[in-house]
Amino acid sequence: MPYVRGMKWWGWGHEDVAFTHEDKLDLGPFLQRHLEIDVSRASSPRVAFEDLAIPESGVPPGLRDALEAAVGAGHVSTDPLDRLVHARGKSLRDLVRHRRGETGRLPDVVVRPGGEDAVVAVLRAAIDADAVVIPFGGGSNISGSLEPPEADARTIVSVDLGRMDGVLAIDETARLARVQTGVFGPQLEEQLNARGWTLGHFPDSFAHSTLGGWIATRSSGMQSDKYGDVADLTRAVRVVMPAGVLATRPMPATSTGPSVREMILGSEGRLGILSEATVHVHRVPVRRTILGYLFPTWAAGLAAMRDVAAGEGSPTVTRVSDANETRFSFATKKSSSPLDRVKSKALAEFLRRRRDFDLDAMCLAFIGYEGSERHVRAQRKLTGRIVARHGGLCIGSGPGALYDQKKFDTPYIRDYLLDRGALADVSETAAPWSLLPAVYDDVISAAHSLPVARRSWVHHVPPLALVPLGRVSVFHLRAHALGRARPAGGVRRRQVGDPADVRGLGCHAVAPPRGRHRACHVAGAGHLGARRRDVARAV
Ligand SMILES: Cc1cc2nc3c(=O)[nH]c(=O)nc-3n(C[C@H](O)[C@H](O)[C@H](O)COP(=O)(O)OP(=O)(O)OC[C@H]3O[C@@H](n4cnc5c(N)ncnc54)[C@H](O)[C@@H]3O)c2cc1C
Repeated sequence: MPYVRGMKWWGWGHEDVAFTHEDKLDLGPFLQRHLEIDVSRASSPRVAFEDLAIPESGVPPGLRDALEAAVGAGHVSTDPLDRLVHARGKSLRDLVRHRRGETGRLPDVVVRPGGEDAVVAVLRAAIDADAVVIPFGGGSNISGSLEPPEADARTIVSVDLGRMDGVLAIDETARLARVQTGVFGPQLEEQLNARGWTLGHFPDSFAHSTLGGWIATRSSGMQSDKYGDVADLTRAVRVVMPAGVLATRPMPATSTGPSVREMILGSEGRLGILSEATVHVHRVPVRRTILGYLFPTWAAGLAAMRDVAAGEGSPTVTRVSDANETRFSFATKKSSSPLDRVKSKALAEFLRRRRDFDLDAMCLAFIGYEGSERHVRAQRKLTGRIVARHGGLCIGSGPGALYDQKKFDTPYIRDYLLDRGALADVSETAAPWSLLPAVYDDVISAAHSLPVARRSWVHHVPPLALVPLGRVSVFHLRAHALGRARPAGGVRRRQVGDPADVRGLGCHAVAPPRGRHRACHVAGAGHLGARRRDVARAV
């Protein structure tokens, strides 16, 4: 296993997967019109791996021997590509620096323990050698939490949990599963589904992130409306700490003292390495469907989502895009058959003539339902009434099925745009429903007030809120002249972030469930060993 399942060191996902405009007739003209991008050529090539200046690995022989004894010689790697992939997460900043050839401080060694005992031995070896340990799940974080400090002279050991990927046991009565934390989303669902269960946790990064990473970053997913965030789903943890293994019990609830489980959730590897978690699982639903809806305006779509949240229904997915995001979504649609084109034209005519829609202001929404046939029917009815009250209409399951299929591919668009000198990113915040329209307006006007910004894309995705809160996620689409990525000693022509390079900018917004906030991940790397005194205090 050379590195994380063929993960790109300069972008999202696998080396052999890429977004393309070639099967999407409208996308090229759309990007040309709005961002002045010529899609036919990559204007901002990244530096080649061979041109990177990768520093030598500095693992003292004694430490290497101890690590090999802990995990087996075949699972200790100082391969430059392996070290590079483990050096950072996948924030826009991480990608831009890597593409430019600014690799920063790399871990000296990557180790892959096969079980908890091996993790204990790795930690012991690192502490004895005064080395720094950084746990690694899928490397998808956007918080800089894997990045070793540039100036730290100690040996950096990246502990990749990828070999610890099993569902160990399922207690069907309690609906609890014991799972090793290095399991990636798809592998986890595959193992659970085979026995009729699901965790129901689907962050956008699902394909390339792990259970341990989700717990360590307090992750939230697109179906958290129904299943809860990972903080709700995680009932107990086992954490290998410098002082020993911490194990909490899967109690349904406690009413005494501060929660140790809560201390671990979101701790970004600072307190120890999560080896195992007990998580709440659910039966795979008999029926699952995501329907598309159109609203005449953004205000109508947002108001409908708020009413759905306050109503008696319990959809699993709710999101609505604003008009710009709706147009962007339509532009990324694959080229359709002549029959589909006739149908789309007929729908557009119907909306214009019979429903009085301004097609430029129209907003696309997706609402998902899960459960028994009866439950899904009842839910659709409840939501349908609310949608109708706000002037919206259902456009069937086709667009929803497409969204469902493609939802984990969206991050590949970021690499495609970076190749063409454009920046795209997402950030999220939470706000009470009453403030959401103002937050949206402020985001848009802040985007437009940038001196050189010309255009915006904004979409709003409000899942359900029992407590009146909404989540706003902001999608920036900026055109930049990125310039050539700069190998060591090369000449930098233009740099990402030079304000003069910004030629367009866009955003989208979201809103969340049951009062949950998605906190911005701002903390730094969770370096064990280095912080062992702090750890002892914290425990
Ligand atoms: C395109 C994209 C979409 C995203 N979408 C979402 C989303 O919808 N929802 C969301 O919440 N986040 C999202 N994220 C952020 C990221 O995917 C999450 O933070 C995810 O939970 C990180 O998991 P990981 O396995 O990749 O962890 P890593 O990136 O490997 O690690 C993250 C942190 O957790 C620590 N860590 C990892 N594994 C362990 C372990 N076993 N024990 C102790 N510490 C550990 C690491 O040291 C590090 O500090 C997205 C990121 C990107 C780039």
